[in-house]
Amino acid sequence: MNIIDFITHFPDEESCEKFLKAYREKEGVYCKTCSSFTRQYWFSGKKFFEYSKCRRRTSLKAGTIMESSNLTLHTWFTAFLLMSATKKGFSCLEFQRQLGLSRYETAFNLMHKIRSIMGKRDSTYMLKGMVEYDEAYVEKAVDEELKNQLKRGKGSQRQAIVAVAAESTPLEDENTGEKSKHCGFFKMKVIPDASASSFEGFVNDAIDKESVLITDKNQAYVNLEKLVECHIKVKSSEKSTNDELNWVHTAISNLKKNLLGIYHMVTEKYLQNYLDEFVYKLNRRYFGEKLFDRLIIAAIQTYV
Ligand SMILES: [Zn+2]
Repeated sequence: MNIIDFITHFPDEESCEKFLKAYREKEGVYCKTCSSFTRQYWFSGKKFFEYSKCRRRTSLKAGTIMESSNLTLHTWFTAFLLMSATKKGFSCLEFQRQLGLSRYETAFNLMHKIRSIMGKRDSTYMLKGMVEYDEAYVEKAVDEELKNQLKRGKGSQRQAIVAVAAESTPLEDENTGEKSKHCGFFKMKVIPDASASSFEGFVNDAIDKESVLITDKNQAYVNLEKLVECHIKVKSSEKSTNDELNWVHTAISNLKKNLLGIYHMVTEKYLQNYLDEFVYKLNRRYFGEKLFDRLIIAAIQTYV
């Protein structure tokens, strides 16, 4: 959906309510008391569902990301549109201005809630097939005084460590014999340190056991072969960056550009949130205008 479609479909609060109600009725409304999808009635005056069996009442927003929010549905829906409208993303200040929100904190919380559903959506998927893996070192915002006490350089306390993996299928042109690689899904996760157990934890959670893992020759990767079907180690060089680890390195360089371009520096606390938005869009890079439709459904779907 583009902006013109959005204005046509969702001009006001009522149109958003209608959409949400219809979607929830189609999917079935879950009753926490009965732990099942039971029949319910809609009370249009006070805008709630009542379950026919236990008589429990539930609001339209209950069980969705919008539950317990004072913002109107129209604000939420417009926020979904903004979050899905650009590849780059908005700064919080711009987001606040576009939505006409009076408080910065409201915009900040709203963005982070939407990012959290993006992360939740992608967390259900495991990378499969040939998978490239490496880490990114991302400069993080730290207190000025603390900054001078911390070491500089790679692996220092001024940098957050992000584990990055990319599905990467080798292709060969039948006519020319030219080799290339097609990329599929990506994953990015902040890890606490550059230890073997942190890397293993990420690989275990993010990559299917029957995959072929491609990494450089880091000593700390020695046990990764136990977690996958096959582990290929390539020598770290400019060639491997352009070749075997091409997609993971492309993603890392784009991530750094994106973070610098919009946020300048991110505190470690919120870094995973930014990564979730970045990767969600990266994984849906061919969706175009459909991104909004997907995002709104992810936001409405209840997690029970
Ligand atoms: Zn019930």
